This record gives sequence, C-alpha cells and structure tokens, in this order.
Amino acid sequence: METAIIVISLLSVLLVGALAFAVRTILKMKKERLRDLEHDEMTGLLNRDGFMLAGRSALMGGRRDMSLIIFDVDRLGLINTLFGAERGDDVIRIFARAVDTVKSDGDITGRVNTDDFALLTGMDARTAVERFESALRGMIDDRELSEQVNYFAGICRYDGHDDIYTLYNKANLCLLMRRDNLRVSEFTPDMESRMVENELLRSEMLDALRLGQFELYYQPKVSFKTGDILGVEALIRWHHPVKGFIPPCDFIPLAEQFGIITQIDEWGLITACLQCKQWQVQGLPPVKVSVNMSQAQFARTDVYASVVKALEMTGLEPKYLEIEVTETMAMTDVDRTVEVLGKIHSLGVSISMDDFGTGYSSLASLKTIPFDVLKIDRSLVCDLSENDTSRRITGAIVAMGKALRMDVLAEGVETREQSRLLGEIGCDLAQGYLFSKPMPASEIETMLILPLNAKLV
Ligand code: C2E
Ligand code: CA
Ligand code: CA
Repeated sequence: METAIIVISLLSVLLVGALAFAVRTILKMKKERLRDLEHDEMTGLLNRDGFMLAGRSALMGGRRDMSLIIFDVDRLGLINTLFGAERGDDVIRIFARAVDTVKSDGDITGRVNTDDFALLTGMDARTAVERFESALRGMIDDRELSEQVNYFAGICRYDGHDDIYTLYNKANLCLLMRRDNLRVSEFTPDMESRMVENELLRSEMLDALRLGQFELYYQPKVSFKTGDILGVEALIRWHHPVKGFIPPCDFIPLAEQFGIITQIDEWGLITACLQCKQWQVQGLPPVKVSVNMSQAQFARTDVYASVVKALEMTGLEPKYLEIEVTETMAMTDVDRTVEVLGKIHSLGVSISMDDFGTGYSSLASLKTIPFDVLKIDRSLVCDLSENDTSRRITGAIVAMGKALRMDVLAEGVETREQSRLLGEIGCDLAQGYLFSKPMPASEIETMLILPLNAKLV
C-alpha cells in the first residue's frame, strides 16, 4: 500500500514537472513567434508594430527627454534601378546598422517602413542625426554608391503628452512637408495646418490640370545681332477660379513636392510644342520654343520618352524645341543626366543651361553635357550697370560660352543700359521685360511679326 502511494506521488511529481515543462515550452514558442512578428526579417530591427509597442512602454515609463527621429532613405527605387536590387538591400541593411550604432541605453530603433528607420532617443536629436550621418558614410565603401545614398530626417521632440503614434505621425509629417534642399526637418505646430492647406492645394492642382486652368505664357528671346525674335520661353501660369492668378514660384515647388510636377511638365511640353507648330502652320516666322524641366521631372520620369512623344504627337521638328535645365539639376545624378540629355540632344533638340551663375557654376557639367545655350542669371544682369564685378563675371561667362561654342543669353534684361553693356560684352541673345513680359500666345503672335530691334541699343 505504502509503495503504491509513493509510486503515485512520484508519478504526480513527474506529471506536474512535465506539464510545467510543456507550458514553459509553449510560452517560449509563443514568445518567439511574437518576437518574429515584432521584428523585421531583413535587418533584425523591430518592425513598425514592435517599434510602436516598445516606444509606448518607453513613453509610459515616464521619460520626458526623448525625441523620435525618422530617417527616410531617399530614392531607394533609383538605387535599385542603378545598382540592382541586391545593392538596394545592402543599403537598407547599412541604414539599419547605422541607426543601431547611434542607439544608446534605453533608446529604441526600428524599421518602420520599407525605406524608413526610426530612432526613439534620449540624446539630443540633432547630435543623433550627426552621429547617424558619420556612421552611415563610414559604412559605405563604394564611392559611386555613396554619392547616390541620401536620406531625410524628420524629428519630433516629445512634449510629455503625445502618445507614440502621435509622435510618429508628427515626425513623419516633417518628411511629407520637407523641402528638397533641407536634409533635417523638425516638427513645428504650424506644419499641421500647412499640411491641410497643402492637401487642398494638391487636389486643386489636379483639378487645374483636368479643367484647363493652366496656361502657358511666352517670353521672347531676342538676337542682339538682328533684333529678331529667335525663340520664346514657355512659362506656366495658373488661373485659379477663386484665388486668381498664381505665379509659378508659388506652386511649382509644391507641385514638385507633391509629385504632380511630372504631369504638369508633361502637359507643358506637349502644349508648347503644339503652340509652336501652330504658329508655323499659321505662316508666322518660325521660332524655337523652350520648355523648363524640373529636377523632379528628370528624376522620376523618362524625359527622353516624353520629348519623343511630344514631338511625334505635335509634328514639331526637333530643331524648334529647346529644353531648359538648371545647374543644380545637371549636378544631381550626373551620369544619368549626361546620358538622357545626350539622347535628347541627338534628336536635334537644343539644351540650355538655365540660371547660370547662381548654383555651383559647375564647369565639369559644361564639359560633359551638350549644352547649346548658356542663360546668364538675372541676378548678374540686374546690377550690371553699377557693379564692376558683375560686369567682369558676365564677360568671363560670355568668353567661356563662346570658347565652348555655345550661344550666351542674358536673362532679366530690363533697361537699355543693361542691353547696351551686354551687347558690348558679346552676348548673343537677350530676354527680359525691356523687350516683353511673358505674354499669352495670342499676344506673342503680333510680336513675332514685328521686329523688336528698336529696343536694342
Ligand atoms: P526661369 O526659368 O528662370 O524663368 C524666368 C523668370 O524670370 C520668369 O518668371 C520670368 O517671368 C521672369 N523674368 C523674365 N524677364 C524678367 C525681367 O526682366 N525682370 C524680372 N524681374 N523677371 C523677369 P516666372 O514666369 O514667374 O517663372 C519663375 C520660374 O518658375 C521659372 O524661372 C522656372 O524656373 C519656373 N517655371 C515656370 N514655368 C515652368 C514650367 O512650365 N515648368 C517648370 N518646371 N518650371 C517652370
Ligand atoms: Ca527657364
Ligand atoms: Ca532662368
């Protein structure tokens, strides 16, 4: 009897032990599964859900000195296209390592989107970004790749009240509202109202395209030698049904930010080609039409295909089309720019460098890109009469343009004195209010018949 009791007790102890082991194993497996669900497979960092959970606990723990930073890999798609998807994946892993390097005790890191990494840190946010930058650069040994790898950082400092989701949304808003030239942007309360306004503007711009509220105005380009109009620059105008006339500087940068510029510029390209062809059909003296191409348009679309399509659709000969690009654009993604502009140029389309003298004034891009025209920026032209240095710089630009067999055009010519000096310096073409402001197509037509040489001194 006693033996039976001992056996039963032993069996129960064993059973309880086995049960406890089974429960522990199940719990461990569950925990591991949960861990899998909270982690990003590729980088091993917390994923979005995991980051939010950990972030919530950290904030509930009562820490107030925290900031949330989101690092957004810039143009990952382009990196994939240029270097292949494997290198794109490497870049993702490098970002993950760089964010993790910055992390100190109590900080939380995560991959919160395909190309977004988050850091909830007790460190000063700007210092954290600086450390991230140097960690990132130190990890990329391929110079070509390093040139293409960029990021934007959105920062929101914890105010002691927000929950993790609000904090995240605010940091994310900094990325949505960023200006292309700002690498780091910090949340300010006015961003929320601007975001609402921008959303409205975005849908208004799409309506404007659909309802035909955009119009191209044209500004003549005049030959110093003959006084003839050799070309016109197409400049967009928005006739807003309520706000009235909106100048391009007020909506083009936003259209770039919203990604709508590609549609606007495509419309502009076709409309300008069509107008130019129509003037020819009407029997007016043939002129070249030039179209501005934004950097975003260049980065996001196949500009060569758009140009071919516009020429085919309208029947305009390539020699009557000119594409204006800025220096900054030519400096970004140089290899691709050289290739695409080279292809466009070989169609017989002219290429001009806009706003020369304002950006880096890169001589290297002048060597590699087949520019036909150099447009001297208005900022140099406007104080030509008073400023000896501007005069010398302009003279040097003209000499350089000639040496490189380009035509040199002076922008923003407003006075006869400026025109006289530019003629003396040896400019080929002039554009500015002295000759004409940008005008609707119907008003430019009369000018195409009447020469403007009376204005040239
Ligand atoms: P931009 O390409 O440098 O165009 C020249 C600007 O200078 C135009 O301003 C023109 O009206 C102005 N301008 C011309 N002559 C004079 C002058 O004598 N004095 C002064 N003060 N200004 C003069 P606008 O039309 O307001 O265009 C501003 C900018 O917007 C353009 O600068 C261009 O970068 C951009 N833009 C205009 N249309 C388009 C477009 O269809 N697509 C794209 N992507 N950008 C455009
Ligand atoms: Ca221009
Ligand atoms: Ca310009």
